[in-house]
Amino acid sequence: MRKSRAVFLDRDGVLNDLEYNPEEGRIGSPLSAKQLRIFPYAGESVRRIKELGFKAILVSNQPGVAKRQFTHSELEKMIGKVRKELAKHECSLDAEYYCLHHPDAIVRKYRLDCDCRKPKPGLLFRAAKEHNLDLGNSFFVGDALVDVKAGRIVGCRTILLGHPTTFLSMMIEREDARPDFMLPSLKQVPDLLRSLKSEGAAAGKKAPN
Ligand SMILES: [Mg+2]
Ligand SMILES: [Zn+2]
Repeated sequence: MRKSRAVFLDRDGVLNDLEYNPEEGRIGSPLSAKQLRIFPYAGESVRRIKELGFKAILVSNQPGVAKRQFTHSELEKMIGKVRKELAKHECSLDAEYYCLHHPDAIVRKYRLDCDCRKPKPGLLFRAAKEHNLDLGNSFFVGDALVDVKAGRIVGCRTILLGHPTTFLSMMIEREDARPDFMLPSLKQVPDLLRSLKSEGAAAGKKAPN
């Protein structure tokens, strides 16, 4: 059976906005469904990615339950909200993979040095097996260097979302996590994929004599 190409998508900072918590001075993932704000372009972007022939597969670290920041049912609500928002744009994810573990978890059953918390590649290998994916022709889209690292380990091309800054450049070097591409947001991803596809098609054509 022919293998599929996938675009792996991180969730927080890719499909939805991050939150700034001034008390903790921390920028992080939303802690409730109410807090979770999907980017207005997310649904259409995912739909366009799928129209280009890619499977859209979510791969997300969600240690909030493990850290008692929210309950399992709140996590389910957040998952439901993302699905509902995407459905408004006639679009759905082909699969969703979550790591709920954390090495310092308060909740004991999640306290674990697992093989699926990004930058570890466990979830990507699992997805590849379960969906017969061609990892070498797949992409990982994330807003953090752990996403870039996980993508690189499995041989995907990586797209880091954000604005190029000197600080980020230093971090990329320090973490040895060079992305293949950098874009401001998920909104620009379908166009990049389309241009790479047509480049590939042009390269495959016989050179004129
Ligand atoms: Mg993220
Ligand atoms: Zn895990």
